[in-house]
Amino acid sequence: MPHATAARLRPFGTTIFAEMTALAARTGAINLGQGFPDEDGPVEIRRAAADALLAGPNQYAPARGLPVLCEAIAAHAARFHGTTLDPETQVQVTVGATEGIAASLLGLLDPGDEVILVEPYYDSYAAIVAMAGATRRTVGVRPPHFALDPDEVEAAVVASGGRARVLLLNSPHNPTGTVLGRETLEALARICREHDLVAVCDDVYEHLVYDGEHVPLHTLEGMAERTLTVSSVGKTFALTGWKVGWVTGPPDLVAAAATAKQFLTFSGHGPLQQAVALALGLSDGTYAATRDTLRAKRDRLCAGLESAGLTTFVPAAGYFAVVDVASIGEADGHAFCLALPERAGVVGVPVSVFCDDPELARTLVRFAFPKREAVIDEAASRLAGLAR
Ligand code: PMP
Ligand code: GLN
Repeated sequence: MPHATAARLRPFGTTIFAEMTALAARTGAINLGQGFPDEDGPVEIRRAAADALLAGPNQYAPARGLPVLCEAIAAHAARFHGTTLDPETQVQVTVGATEGIAASLLGLLDPGDEVILVEPYYDSYAAIVAMAGATRRTVGVRPPHFALDPDEVEAAVVASGGRARVLLLNSPHNPTGTVLGRETLEALARICREHDLVAVCDDVYEHLVYDGEHVPLHTLEGMAERTLTVSSVGKTFALTGWKVGWVTGPPDLVAAAATAKQFLTFSGHGPLQQAVALALGLSDGTYAATRDTLRAKRDRLCAGLESAGLTTFVPAAGYFAVVDVASIGEADGHAFCLALPERAGVVGVPVSVFCDDPELARTLVRFAFPKREAVIDEAASRLAGLAR
């Protein structure tokens, strides 16, 4: 019998998120693995979706997205980033950021092209690069600061011998919660311009920055014409199951993503798109409240992890805190995570699964904090039992 799964996808198996959520369900452990909130986002957004389900639109949305959402995405870019976008040619609505990344890469890459990834990287990146028939070249970030060194990025681009076509960035970063600073972004922008790279920026955590600020790469000199920016509603408004995302950028690059997208799903979720248009227009106060609530959860979980004896790298942004389990005598984060539900009734994700070089993160483990206070406290107290 031939293999059922194509060779280029065989290395990928089941995602760690599905694996860890299934483990939590099986063992009844607290799930701090897969990144999703345990409380749903603002009720007015959900009510708008319910209204749209009853009143329509319930037939195919246009492939580019409902015009009302494309306009809301353009207005969001103008409001938060001072970016002017033509909603007809510079916006593509997608089924979550996941499809936005897939459409961008499938639309841009030919077999033999290379993509520069920062590792640890979000797991879908490597799989989509493989689906495009392209190859990845990684640059690592390390504790305690997980800082990206632009010189290492440039060395990787040079080593590709002209094959590097895309620099895929994720800031704020999953899993480490780092936010790329302006100086680093300036250096990366120069590398993109000098080596003629397209930047694909995964900005899904753009509104969840607790310390510092998110500077979109496309706002830097000469970058608007060579950057695709991907985002989505899921993380910002605690609606991860909605899977409404978008890609924005110059018309030619958005057209490349749109070409791929129309044959992936054509279009998605008309009623939800209508509600997301409303969500994006909510007040600054609503955005700030979401962020501030999450900052308090971050502080709560990080304090709990530290008092459990875990070396904790407090994230500046996002949904996750990374710890080093070496501080409680553990030698392997993956084995630790597999045993953790039985030992302590908690699920986390080993950071090494996001790395080509597992040594980069051998003892690092990621915990999600968008959970109710009582859940965070219970998880922390269970983890505290490990070191005793
Ligand atoms: N990129 C990163 C870095 C993520 O953490 C996630 C998970 N929200 C995604 C992309 C996928 O986003 P979506 O759920 O909108 O597809
Ligand atoms: N983004 C989420 C995480 O990092 C998972 C999304 C998914 O399950 N694919 O945990």
